[in-house]
Amino acid sequence: MSDKRVLVTGGAGFIGSHLCKKLLEEGQKVICLDNYFTGSQENVSDLLQYPTFTQVHHDVTLPMNVEIDEIYNFACPASPVHYQYDPVKTTKTSVLGAMNILDLAHQSGAKILHASTSEVYGDPLIHPQQEEHWGNVNPIGIRACYDEGKRCAETLCFDYYRKYDVDVKVIRIFNTYGPNMHPQDGRVVSNFIVQALKGEDITIYGDGKQTRSFCYIDDLVNGIIRMMQTEKGFIGPVNLGNPGEFTILELAEKVVGLARSVSKIVFKPLPPDDPKQRQPDISLAKAKIGWVPEVCLDEGIERTIAYFKKVLI
Ligand code: NAD
Ligand code: UDP
Repeated sequence: MSDKRVLVTGGAGFIGSHLCKKLLEEGQKVICLDNYFTGSQENVSDLLQYPTFTQVHHDVTLPMNVEIDEIYNFACPASPVHYQYDPVKTTKTSVLGAMNILDLAHQSGAKILHASTSEVYGDPLIHPQQEEHWGNVNPIGIRACYDEGKRCAETLCFDYYRKYDVDVKVIRIFNTYGPNMHPQDGRVVSNFIVQALKGEDITIYGDGKQTRSFCYIDDLVNGIIRMMQTEKGFIGPVNLGNPGEFTILELAEKVVGLARSVSKIVFKPLPPDDPKQRQPDISLAKAKIGWVPEVCLDEGIERTIAYFKKVLI
């Protein structure tokens, strides 16, 4: 058993719940902080068996005070449907949330890992995306509340390091999927799987030629924990994602095949500012934290289908 007290903000969400579980399995004391906007109690109900697990209902836009050794800052809606629902609140969560959590890290001398995103690259001008790319983001579009909020949060992380010597780490997560995604999350993998299992039309936005790179949750969590273990002064940002690149049409066909579904594929309007291609260059993650993802898309989709078959009953 470790004496370390670890705070996971957004701990009842998709990634946060897997992270809490892994940390508890490793013997850490975990505080899961969430406002339950997109997260759920079901995601963490099996963690209540750990006496070292505590839940706090709190909103990161408000200051907080707790004695803590390590912080994983994951609070923020990540699906376009949910972050566009109240875009002002999304910016507040990203920016005020990051400030409050960085203040907490500063006061308590805690190490902090912040969850940033491939969205900081916007509709990228470099392919695959390397950490040096400054991005191509529309600052006034419908994705800006999230993209610019996350960019500002990165700025804050680096300034808290330079100004206050806070031990900060920044990861840029590329599209990640797996069990504990909400059936109504709205992101592409969960949408397609739920549609396929229900025999509903598979909704491709646009012509389906846009690409994404999909990382299975277990791989991502391993990378997150390795990054937290790096020495002080190594801030990143580090890309974490699976470099396998697929068109959205390829993904749809794969999901229909693996789910043995009768669903047909239909095409809907493409939302504004939808990035055309996305693929992480993970050379830095390989070199600095010895991380490469191991779960291929077919295997990850099969595991995720098995999860949704249980929750959709
Ligand atoms: P999620 O929506 O499942 O989880 C987000 C969690 O944060 C939820 O439990 C939600 O209730 C909580 N939350 C939201 N606003 C909050 C607030 N103001 N105060 C406290 N809690 C709040 O999404 P996820 O996929 O698990 O994403 C987690 C983090 O990882 C986010 O910061 C997201 O930007 C980042 N990320 C995720 C992906 C991905 O592909 N899943 C990609 C890039 C970045
Ligand atoms: N998408 C789609 N159908 C859906 C949901 C999403 O075709 O039901 C597309 C979306 O337009 C985008 C890609 O899939 O091109 C990934 O979308 P998601 O919302 O998962 O993540 P992001 O756009 O933030 O990468």
